[in-house]
Amino acid sequence: MKLDDSVALEAVAERESLVVDGATRLFGTAVALRAVSLKVRPGEIVSVTGPSGAGKTTLARIISGLECLDAGEIRCRGGRFDRIAARHRRVAHMFESYALYPHRTVAENIASPLLALPAAERPSREGIRERVDELLALTEMTVLADRLPGALSGGQKQRVALCRALVQKPSVLLLDEPLAHLDAKLRHRLRREIRLRLKSGNAPAIWFTPDATEALAVGDRVVVLIDGEVRQDGTPEQIHLQPADIGVARLLGDPPMNLLDATLVDQIGVMTARHAAGTVTLPQRMRGATEFLPASGRCVLGLRPAAFDVLPTSTATDGLAGEIYTTEPMGKHMVVSVRVGADLVRAKVEPGSAWRPGDRVVLRADPARVLVFSAESGRTVDPGSHP
Ligand code: ATP
Repeated sequence: MKLDDSVALEAVAERESLVVDGATRLFGTAVALRAVSLKVRPGEIVSVTGPSGAGKTTLARIISGLECLDAGEIRCRGGRFDRIAARHRRVAHMFESYALYPHRTVAENIASPLLALPAAERPSREGIRERVDELLALTEMTVLADRLPGALSGGQKQRVALCRALVQKPSVLLLDEPLAHLDAKLRHRLRREIRLRLKSGNAPAIWFTPDATEALAVGDRVVVLIDGEVRQDGTPEQIHLQPADIGVARLLGDPPMNLLDATLVDQIGVMTARHAAGTVTLPQRMRGATEFLPASGRCVLGLRPAAFDVLPTSTATDGLAGEIYTTEPMGKHMVVSVRVGADLVRAKVEPGSAWRPGDRVVLRADPARVLVFSAESGRTVDPGSHP
């Protein structure tokens, strides 16, 4: 490709990107969104995740024009999106509440956005049927094509709403919790299939979900929204390996990351975290970490369940000592909950392991996988990332 061509393609990609710039939305005195900024390029999937009340639905409604901005702007297709009426934005928005037409069949509901297009842009009858049939097959609903929404389960209604968003060729695609009510097997298959479709569709797409595991699986980039603010915007790997703060860390993993209060001690260059139930050795890259912490060295350790070895007390000289509280067989692994001091720590071990409640054990964390957060600011501490 010639340089001129790549410059021209980049200019088109810029023009067709969705840009949310400083979006702020208040409801009375409550701040639903505070200066939220993000960018989604054509063909890119950005997943927006955060706990209930984080502002995900409000952000989706602002982009599609159902909610107005108190400050900030939305740009797409080279202009101010937020100044265009909702019906002219060409946003395919799958609502968390489905919003199906009750008197139209499943197939008619799915076809409805195409039938509403101006005649010059509307596909032929056969073209519409083909697209609807393909989506019905994709979502395992072919046999339900002639049913009315009133005769569908919650998960089936959700799939109709999903198909109705996917049938369009929009300027922006928004999926608000698209797979929340589906069984695990269908959810996993559809994640993969929808991802492939979105990648080939070439519209900027945002996938909203409270499930951080799903967000990391489907997004090219992940934006973590908490209390209406963007806490982190990065690749799934960046979010997984280095969550920006304790709030982000709390959302990650199943079982979630263990967060333990500790004190960092620098013993002639060897960094150790002291906890009421023992010590955790930190990686070399944490040298100098105390500079980023209060003078007391107070910090919060982030320890993933898979980062631990569970050892008999007799063989371990360092680690966190405790007593097994519960064991949960989970198929591919077993989750062992261990009381260490006042904390309950969950560790993933081999399935069929012989540990039983009441056993005295030591938890030893792999130093390379230990995360440290400031107890004061909640922000991640990683001196190894500073030049
Ligand atoms: P969930 O995952 O539970 O759907 P969410 O991340 O989508 O949550 P929003 O529905 O966007 O969160 O809500 C963000 C905040 O704004 C919440 O505190 C909510 O109570 C508030 N909020 C949303 N809509 C309104 C409204 N119409 N009037 C008043 N407050 C609202």
